[in-house]
Amino acid sequence: MLFLTIDQGTTSTRALVIDSNENTLGLGQQAIVQHYPNNGWVEHDPEQIWQSTLDSCQLAIASAVDDVSQLAALAITNQRETVVLWDRQTGKPVYNAIVWQDRRTDDYCDALKAQGHESYIQSTTGLLLDPYFSASKINWLLDNIEGARERAEAGELAVGTIDCFLVWRLTNGQSHITDATNASRTSLFDIHQQCWDEKLLDIFNIPEAILPTVVDNSGALAVCDQQHFGLPLAIKAMIGDQQSALIGQGCVETGLAKSTFGTGSFLMLNTGDVAAISEHRMLTTVAFRLSGQLSFAIEGSLFCAGSTMDWLRDKLQIIDHIGDIEPLVKKRSDSRGVYLVPAFTGLGAPYWQPKVNAALVGMTLDSDRADVVTAALQSVVYQTQELLMLMAEEGVAPQLLAVDGGMVANSWMCQFLSDMLAIPVVRPRQLEATALGAARLAMLACGVIEALPVGGRGEARSFDATMSDSQRQHNLQGWQRALIAARSMDP
Ligand code: ADP
Repeated sequence: MLFLTIDQGTTSTRALVIDSNENTLGLGQQAIVQHYPNNGWVEHDPEQIWQSTLDSCQLAIASAVDDVSQLAALAITNQRETVVLWDRQTGKPVYNAIVWQDRRTDDYCDALKAQGHESYIQSTTGLLLDPYFSASKINWLLDNIEGARERAEAGELAVGTIDCFLVWRLTNGQSHITDATNASRTSLFDIHQQCWDEKLLDIFNIPEAILPTVVDNSGALAVCDQQHFGLPLAIKAMIGDQQSALIGQGCVETGLAKSTFGTGSFLMLNTGDVAAISEHRMLTTVAFRLSGQLSFAIEGSLFCAGSTMDWLRDKLQIIDHIGDIEPLVKKRSDSRGVYLVPAFTGLGAPYWQPKVNAALVGMTLDSDRADVVTAALQSVVYQTQELLMLMAEEGVAPQLLAVDGGMVANSWMCQFLSDMLAIPVVRPRQLEATALGAARLAMLACGVIEALPVGGRGEARSFDATMSDSQRQHNLQGWQRALIAARSMDP
């Protein structure tokens, strides 16, 4: 059986044809243009998201499938929190997609915080009050797009995260659904009762009628209109990208953890059926929901990981290619006291300071581009280390960390990560853990597998810690001083 899997990410849309043995037979990929129309604003064109999805699917199918009837099901995984508001009649968005990194609602979130709403939000949704999540973005759309609020109240508009928007388009408006993991990132969803929460709808001033129905992650969820793939392909899996990577990495039991290093970086620890509310301002989130049965995770997010690397290339222009990073860093192996705090879009867990900016500290006249590049790469590791230490303080210390995402092609980073965490870091041969997770959910729905596989599979490379404790402490203390400096400049 073949499974068509869509991975709609922040920087690209990918489609993969995956067989029942988890081999990738075909791949289609298209870049997504980032729009920055204002300071702190990040948008995508929803039509480009849609077209790149169709095109990537066609490419993947053309490279791997003789006859589309070989396709057993479609699986969808997607960038989370990013929202689209569209017209139910025409399917046309009323505005660009507001991307998860967008901070335009930071003052609004501050005002809600001042009104004392954060503790209710945390206990109900597992999230905190931050522009990152969908609710404040939806509120912005309703208040700032002419006529949107009236039309929403009249039932003319629909809203959704990217999974939901794609399913709407793929079913020609027949299905307005989202899955429990994507819903759990909106800040409107009660993760314990599994329903939209009236009080939160009230706080964010959002009419319930515009929201989708929430479904499981696996099952007969919807059916694509025949026009798209030449057959009524069943959609059998929908899941947010980080939760999908958790499944793709086999972290489906309590205590297993993965970190995905893409545009941002997302550390997730499976906590089983316990929705543990973090004491250290990390997020509690739905890991997956199968036949109504819930698994939860604790998550810590770094907003800028790979995007910091892209900034070195595109804005600072101190490297020509991303592939230049590893040779440069290997040559030096130390940032010689230079630290970069990459708060380009604010700081996420555990600080949640959306207005803090990035800082480069510790420079001397001898500092050079190798130091800055090394500091940039190390910053992703230091932030991951802080999150893992906090998770350990909450009583769950993973014994190893499974890693994936574009950045882990960088072996130097994987080694430094293991050195700083002092646990093995395991990189699978198959780096597309995100797509694999969604494909596994579709396989589950089709009866190809009876349960989600536990632990890593196949060949993997393990990086083991070799750094001395004193060196580790020295590095960490330098980072913490730099972080204090950056945070003290919160405007
Ligand atoms: P997403 O799914 O969020 O779009 P990917 O998982 O494709 O992102 O990862 C892409 C990111 O990984 C880019 O920001 C890129 O700069 C970074 N990256 C890719 N290769 C390397 C490398 N060898 N070293 C450091 N960063 C890398």
